[in-house]
Amino acid sequence: MFKGIMISRDDAIPYRVQLQDIGEDALPDGDVTVRVIYSTLNYKDALAITGKGPIVRRFPMVPGVDLVGSVEQSEDARYRVGDMVVLNGWGVGETHWGGLAQKARVKSDWLVPLSDTISPHRAMAIGTAGYTAMLCVMALQGHGVTPDKGSIVVTGAAGGVGSIAIALLARLGYQVEAVTGRMEESAFLRSLGATGILPRDEFAVPGKPLGKERWAGAIDVVGSQVLASVCAGMRYGGVVAACGLAGGMDFPATVAPFILRGVTLAGIDSVMCPYERRIAAWRGLAQHLDMAKLDQLTEDITLADALNLAPTLLQGKVRGRVVVDVNR
Ligand code: NDP
Repeated sequence: MFKGIMISRDDAIPYRVQLQDIGEDALPDGDVTVRVIYSTLNYKDALAITGKGPIVRRFPMVPGVDLVGSVEQSEDARYRVGDMVVLNGWGVGETHWGGLAQKARVKSDWLVPLSDTISPHRAMAIGTAGYTAMLCVMALQGHGVTPDKGSIVVTGAAGGVGSIAIALLARLGYQVEAVTGRMEESAFLRSLGATGILPRDEFAVPGKPLGKERWAGAIDVVGSQVLASVCAGMRYGGVVAACGLAGGMDFPATVAPFILRGVTLAGIDSVMCPYERRIAAWRGLAQHLDMAKLDQLTEDITLADALNLAPTLLQGKVRGRVVVDVNR
């Protein structure tokens, strides 16, 4: 038996979430069994745990889109018993049992070998949020946004993706302006490397189709009106990496920034991202993420705590990243 969070439903209770003992014979199909060391609590996991978003698409389900652990059993020659592996996305915690449990059985193709330079704890402090932040940075770089082109605006700055994006961009030499609804986190955001702090309110109301040209690049985790306002404030030829919907799924914008300023809207998806790009992202994180800053923005919780913290995270009240110690 192993411990895990289980989401189930039946006629009496349409959405039941509990920490429980799970039999190993119940593990789903897969060619690698992983002894999980840490998982994380991402926005998507909080939606799954609270049932506030349609994340879980098969029941019963162990949530958790991330895990790090050691290989316990493998039918794939690429992975041997004892190897340290990371898994982000691919539908785990949605259609296949995920990381918020002490064991997982998964497809070997979904795994990434853990770099020697990143500890298991830091791998989950990074998690999907940090790996997505790196994918966003790679999108800006891939579209030619170099530090000399101008500053980068990051929305949802005090959250998981936002805070790691700021740390990465600052280390890479970019000027970073952080948009936050929590001005009380200004000192924290500056400690990560933000040079300017902008109140979210300024972005949350409809403005002109084109505003003052302010930023060469943007990383947006909020969507909705905030994303529309960011697009309207981009410099000529600017690039916006859009990865989130913390403020809403809609996009109430005009085409003006795209057809009059040549702005590029680059969509970022971490879940189905191809293997080579994942490896590149993890290599970039090992190389460019200041691990002391990562530690500073991370808090540790237990599996039981994850149940209580999920609603708080959805309210935008959790700062930085959350690592879940599944064995505590
Ligand atoms: P967090 O909850 O850690 O951070 C989100 C931040 O957004 C909050 O901290 C807050 O920052 C801000 N925010 C929260 N609610 C609102 C709101 N109603 N309006 C405006 N801003 C708000 O989540 P993550 O950083 O883990 O994820 C952020 C988003 O990115 C989520 O939508 C998530 O689903 C998405 N995502 C997408 C991925 C992909 O593959 N495309 C992968 C990973 C995440 P502040 O207080 O500073 O304003």
